[in-house]
Amino acid sequence: MKSQKEVVVVGAGFAGLSGAAYLARQGFRVTLVEKNGEIGGRARIWNAGDYTFDMGPSWYLMPEVFDRFFSDIGKDRSDYYQLTKLDPSYRVFFENHKPVDISPNLEKTKRAFADLETQGDQKLESYLKQAEYKYSVAIKEFLYKEYTSVFDFLNKRMLTEGLKLNVFQNLDKYVRKTFNSVEARQILEYAMVFLGTSPEDAPALYSLMSHVDMNLGVYFPTGGLGGVALGMLKAVQELGVEVLTNTEVTGYQMSGYGIVGVQTTNGTIPADAVLFTGDYHHGEVDLLQDNSRSISINKWNSMVLAPSMFILYLGVKKPLTKLAHHNLYFRHDWDVHFNSIFKDPDWPQNPCFYLSCISKTETEFAPQGKENVFVLVPTAPGLYDSDEVREEYTDTLLKHIEVSTGEEISEHIELKRIFTQRDFSEDYNAWQGTALGIAHTLGQTAVFRPGIKSKKIRNLFYSGQFTHPGVGVPMVLIASKLGAARIERELHG
Ligand SMILES: Cc1cc2nc3c(=O)[nH]c(=O)nc-3n(C[C@H](O)[C@H](O)[C@H](O)COP(=O)(O)OP(=O)(O)OC[C@H]3O[C@@H](n4cnc5c(N)ncnc54)[C@H](O)[C@@H]3O)c2cc1C
Repeated sequence: MKSQKEVVVVGAGFAGLSGAAYLARQGFRVTLVEKNGEIGGRARIWNAGDYTFDMGPSWYLMPEVFDRFFSDIGKDRSDYYQLTKLDPSYRVFFENHKPVDISPNLEKTKRAFADLETQGDQKLESYLKQAEYKYSVAIKEFLYKEYTSVFDFLNKRMLTEGLKLNVFQNLDKYVRKTFNSVEARQILEYAMVFLGTSPEDAPALYSLMSHVDMNLGVYFPTGGLGGVALGMLKAVQELGVEVLTNTEVTGYQMSGYGIVGVQTTNGTIPADAVLFTGDYHHGEVDLLQDNSRSISINKWNSMVLAPSMFILYLGVKKPLTKLAHHNLYFRHDWDVHFNSIFKDPDWPQNPCFYLSCISKTETEFAPQGKENVFVLVPTAPGLYDSDEVREEYTDTLLKHIEVSTGEEISEHIELKRIFTQRDFSEDYNAWQGTALGIAHTLGQTAVFRPGIKSKKIRNLFYSGQFTHPGVGVPMVLIASKLGAARIERELHG
């Protein structure tokens, strides 16, 4: 019988919830500590009277990763929430083309691609075969693997497979080789924004994302992604984890090179190890002394930060018939928008945006005949952001949405909340208000992401969207499986 060692997990987002579950299942006594009043992290729920909002993620992708997580902790996902496959998966609005629906029925999507360019259907079919291959190799060989040295990453298999998987080529060039129409290319590249990167800087390996959304499909879980977090909370509590909300970690009590206690706004919690899942930069720069940090300030300053976001939560008192559950809008020359994020930081004009009407599927989230609308514009981290700037940008954005989608919205809004980088910093301790951590450039992939284990403190470990495999809910579930496995090896031997 193993002695019950105590692990404190910091942050109750998806990484913290899954990390706590894995560790409890491995036999540790686990305390999960969250600064906010609610669990879910960036995927919190906001209850606003008659409306309920998923505050962050809304695309449930890679269902097998969630199922594997529940099975790993001895549970069955279907006991916690149900899934509906969305049809259409999503609708894309363009500046110079009529809207295109991406369907769970691949034949329909292929017909849509044939309308976009000559032989678009055949090109899509062979592109997706490649994407499927990359996805299967990534799942089998790369995602569920901890990289501890550069040789782990640049091993023989990566050097031979890497070329086949297009690891060393950029996605934009890769897609351009096959597709001529701007619209087809945008559909195949947009997911890079989910990874916090522009298609010109993302390895073409990430074309696997098209397999994820077009072949595997886009799902909706009961209660939204916030409902998934609540399901995971139930599971971690069943495993005996103690969950403390409204409790912020402020530092560590040290003995030599090890942590013996986690200092919080509600007192000190004894710890044999810590799994920190808040923003890595905050965990290092705000919570540790200079000589205990694994990553120097200079190194942080040289990293490519992922975008922040300008978000609107709207209660709209009429049905929006031209919109689907998930909607995307791409301006024709979207490089201008990417440049305003990554090259010349500024508020994007005529921006690309994502808009969801979750109430089309989750009827509990808005009163009957009304819509729950979430609008997201990726923006540069660290932009100047005052109350006046937000209001002005909201007005411009709403007019732009009306023109791009043909839906009148402004006059029908009965509830509005704006959430921007300032809120990301205040609510999640996000560095420069980044929504997604660090970008997925090649230089920030796998072994080149911040490590699981602190280089200076023997029992401090990290997980979450800054670590490998990276950004996105499925990715952080995997990150915490790796983090918990490392703790198990180090503490239980
Ligand atoms: C608006 C938005 C939309 C997105 N859309 C999608 C999507 O559709 N699909 C998808 O898969 N992914 C999406 N993502 C990405 C995905 O949400 C994230 O990658 C993932 O949720 C990150 O989880 P995490 O646990 O690493 O971090 P977080 O969710 O940020 O959790 C970290 C937690 O740590 C807490 N914390 C921080 N500091 C402290 C401290 N000192 N003491 C105690 N607690 C602390 C924070 O309050 C937070 O609750 C989206 C992200 C955003 C912001």
